[in-house]
Amino acid sequence: MQDQQLSFLKTLLETGSPSGYEADIQKKIHAHVETFADQIDRDWHGNLAATVNPEGNPRIMLAGHCDQIGLLVKHIEPEGFLRTMTIGGWDMQMLLGQKVQVWTANGPIPGVIARKAIHLLSKDERGKIPEIHDLWIDIGAKDKADAETRIELGDPVTLNLGYQELLNGLACAPGMDDKVGVWVVMSALERVKAGTAQAAVIGVSTVQEEIGLRGATTASYSADAKLGIAVDVTHATDTPDVSQSQHGDVKIGGGPVIVRGPNTNSKVFERLTSIAKAANIPYQVNALPKAASNDAAALQLSRGGQATAVVAIPNRYMHSPVEVISLQDLEHAAELIAQFCLSLTPDCDFTP
Ligand SMILES: [Zn+2]
Repeated sequence: MQDQQLSFLKTLLETGSPSGYEADIQKKIHAHVETFADQIDRDWHGNLAATVNPEGNPRIMLAGHCDQIGLLVKHIEPEGFLRTMTIGGWDMQMLLGQKVQVWTANGPIPGVIARKAIHLLSKDERGKIPEIHDLWIDIGAKDKADAETRIELGDPVTLNLGYQELLNGLACAPGMDDKVGVWVVMSALERVKAGTAQAAVIGVSTVQEEIGLRGATTASYSADAKLGIAVDVTHATDTPDVSQSQHGDVKIGGGPVIVRGPNTNSKVFERLTSIAKAANIPYQVNALPKAASNDAAALQLSRGGQATAVVAIPNRYMHSPVEVISLQDLEHAAELIAQFCLSLTPDCDFTP
């Protein structure tokens, strides 16, 4: 991955963006895409749409969601500890003992997610998975008044953000879901700009996916596109104890996953796979017999119905502090989607 592209990925991963609190990350995405997009639109919901060739035909929307799961400050205890609620789907065991950042009006402040030490837990408590109300965040405040000088109710919280490379081109960070999707969408758009597109290509950094595909719902109405591709993470099944017979055979580094099933238009699927074969872009197929649990579900039902596809990035340990992806899979996904967009002509027909 080129330095400038890697630095954009790191910027995304180092900016806190729990659902509903995406303003900072959208500003950074705006600064990146204005170097190549023909048009940039922001809506009052929070979505950012960057378009190449706005007068083109057909119109295609690419969606990657910029929000991440997080916590929200709900209550401050008299002793200064913060009680929170969850934003999005957490495995509570992942939260225990984590360092966090509370994103305040005056910047992030550090804290730790705590509970009693093991020696002080009763036998019952030791065997039980804690719920969010059993945990607290300690920011080091002396008491409630001290905490209130820094924290407001409704301040969002993320795990300590940061990017780390592993061996063989793998990398890990909280929030790979779905900042890698934003990266792929905007990288595909930049590649489209470098080519000659007949289609109008609208790359959208959507908001609030983790709480119900809400940004894709509003953004797809505005984009008014006939085709839509959602880029999100999917479970790599190449780790111990994950059943491939139940979840499919998905390898990290094996290329983007093109999902087959009712949420992917059959002709879009055929075109994506034949482009990948012709261009020697590795890809994997996984089957999904229902609406995807990502932006593709909203795209497909937008207006009169979009011809949609899910292009997914293999991800180990989703919704954890150590979400792992392969940088090569990102590049391959961006190239595949760019070539798909460049192949579209005004007379193409995706009626299944
Ligand atoms: Zn996601």
